[in-house]
Amino acid sequence: MIRIEDKLGRRFEKLRISLLNSCNFSCVYCVSEDFGNIQPETTFKPIAEEQLSIEDFTRLINGVHRLSGLKSIRLTGGEPLLFRNLIPLIQQIQKIGIPDIRLTTNAYYLKESAKRLFEAGLTSVNISVDAIDLYVFNKISRHPNTSRVFQGIEAAINAGLNVKLNAVIMRGKNDSQIIPLLDYATVKGVKIRFLELMKMGHLYHAENGLFFSEKEILSIIQKKYGIERIQREFASTANYWRTSGGGTFGIIANESTPFCHDCNRLRMDSNGYFYGCLSNSHGEKLSPYLHNDFLLAEKLKELLLLKQPVKFHGSELSMRNIGG
Ligand code: SAM
Ligand code: SF4
Repeated sequence: MIRIEDKLGRRFEKLRISLLNSCNFSCVYCVSEDFGNIQPETTFKPIAEEQLSIEDFTRLINGVHRLSGLKSIRLTGGEPLLFRNLIPLIQQIQKIGIPDIRLTTNAYYLKESAKRLFEAGLTSVNISVDAIDLYVFNKISRHPNTSRVFQGIEAAINAGLNVKLNAVIMRGKNDSQIIPLLDYATVKGVKIRFLELMKMGHLYHAENGLFFSEKEILSIIQKKYGIERIQREFASTANYWRTSGGGTFGIIANESTPFCHDCNRLRMDSNGYFYGCLSNSHGEKLSPYLHNDFLLAEKLKELLLLKQPVKFHGSELSMRNIGG
């Protein structure tokens, strides 16, 4: 295998794929106000290029895996449960020889699909849940029926999937939900990660007062619980703590505690463009190089050089395009 590594010893070991850039939610941090008036069950498609087929995805994953020896794949979006061929794709990825297959989802359609996804070979699922209070959650997601998310969480746990919860915390919108979310996760026996807001997409140039820091999140939790820091795992985006209440939570804090120094992630969007770093606003197609391992390795090296050394400062692309 050709060694593809940068000066900091970083390699591509995890691939995140945005299977499609459309979604049935319009979360305020992910979708600009311009999309605010869409009907709940309709989906938006801001990028007009051809969506990749399952064969295209499989070919590209295979090519990158051949050279990088991928340890895991995360399927995301947009909303990956809207991707019609999700189960066959998971089966194909298993055949390629990548055993750790993960999903990030809003869980709206998970109740119906969790068991089949587990049986197809999915190992774990990260579920976005920004509030326990449904009024607050509906307002953030701009969807009237977020109660289905909780049914999806139940189904995923019952199916045997390894479940983690994600909540983006915004000042004045859902900072009141930190303790209810932590307590819910503790009762369910799953980890929850609180995310600092990232300057992605429509937030890239925006000066907004929504940012809520790691320090502020910790201070709220410490008013109720004693906390103990857990040793950070290699290439983890989150730092974790145990609480005196028996729970475990993490914080993904790009601003306060950046995690670029040992980043091992490569991203692909639904049109087959690859991104070496979340801060990239333009991707690179790898399909023309799949037939030549030398050229493909050169391209992967170029993508690796696009990683930030310490911290990334956002991107003009939204998370749903680049694959959050
Ligand atoms: N639709 C799925 C979901 O919501 O989980 C998968 C795609 S979503 C883009 C992946 C993750 O990105 C979610 O956990 C979401 O909360 C997070 N995200 C999106 N925009 C963000 C932003 N501006 N700052 C921080 N996290 C963001
Ligand atoms: Fe959809 Fe996920 Fe973006 Fe929310 S964060 S709008 S659920 S892609």
